[in-house]
Amino acid sequence: MKLNIVKSNKKAIVDFDNLGFGKIFTNHIFVMEYNGGEWKNPQIKPYGAFDLDPSTAVFHYGQAVFEGLKAYKNSKGEIRLFRPQDNFKRMNESCDRVCIPNFDEKFVLDAMTQLVKIDSGFIPTKAGSSLYIRPSIIATDAVLGVHPSSSYLFFIICSPVGAYYKNGFGPIKLLVEEYYTRAALGGTGANKVIGNYAASLIAQQKAMKLGCNQVMWLDAKDKRFVEEVGAMNIFFVLGDKVITHALNGSILPGLTRDSVIRHLKYLGYDVSEQQIDINDIVKYAKDKTLTEIFGTGTAAVISPVSEFLYKDENFAVGSGGIGKITQMLYDDLTSIQTGVKNDPHGFVKLI
Ligand SMILES: *Cc1c(COP(=O)(O)O)cnc(C)c1O
Repeated sequence: MKLNIVKSNKKAIVDFDNLGFGKIFTNHIFVMEYNGGEWKNPQIKPYGAFDLDPSTAVFHYGQAVFEGLKAYKNSKGEIRLFRPQDNFKRMNESCDRVCIPNFDEKFVLDAMTQLVKIDSGFIPTKAGSSLYIRPSIIATDAVLGVHPSSSYLFFIICSPVGAYYKNGFGPIKLLVEEYYTRAALGGTGANKVIGNYAASLIAQQKAMKLGCNQVMWLDAKDKRFVEEVGAMNIFFVLGDKVITHALNGSILPGLTRDSVIRHLKYLGYDVSEQQIDINDIVKYAKDKTLTEIFGTGTAAVISPVSEFLYKDENFAVGSGGIGKITQMLYDDLTSIQTGVKNDPHGFVKLI
């Protein structure tokens, strides 16, 4: 397959001081089609709207997957991607779950690299900011029958983003959600499938009404084991032991999660992937064994948690500020991403 490139004549004009998250987009888009049993017509072209029939399958049944990753540019002008090959591997696994045909990971990674280079004038250099990259695949058959589409559209868009949280790297409060569930075993929770996020919005709204920032999700069956936080994985620190829920089929296998586990083990910490009972967490919060909670995900990288609300009772985590390990992980990971620190794990791909 040959990548066809048509350049926009627009300049990269960006107000880097007022980026927000995912609000503005670069001048180009990557697109590729699937029909007749194969992926074809890969192109980089000027960013613009799609012309899709109202009956298009994705609008009705949500047969679609996505990914999220970031490119960083440092003061030396280096462009650095964080574990991009792993995002495309995970994307193909998501495709398997919702009957979308696999694509050539190497080809798409190479096309994305070219897209990022063409739009490199949009990559912010300020600390905490980056170019957020969003690959997606949507079902495009224009028919209302419920069955796997025979045609798809793969696209990649890019958005220069500032820090994820408006108020900077600060601790958040979680609502432990006892009614709504994010993912059940056998469902789509382990994949980046679009419907998962629509289903989570109501709990997020509820959390905000109760003065919390995000939802702490419990397992769907027993409402007892802590699985994730918002659209992030979750970690608990008990003294110098770190625990996170094992990948059991309802947890999204986060790359930040995996990077944190690898980095902690490299530094000599005791990290365990296991089931985590909310009743134990409450007990450890009360007796102060629980020193830190944090979330992990590409968008926020590391998100400190200072408090949680469970069965109408508030629990403080550690001293209520940003924990020591939480801060260290944020500093180390962002320093590896931007090249301030060297990368002992080989996470970064320079392009
Ligand atoms: C994307 C995502 C994560 C984090 O994955 P990363 O690869 O670290 O960005 C965690 N949980 C959910 C539900 C997600 O969608």
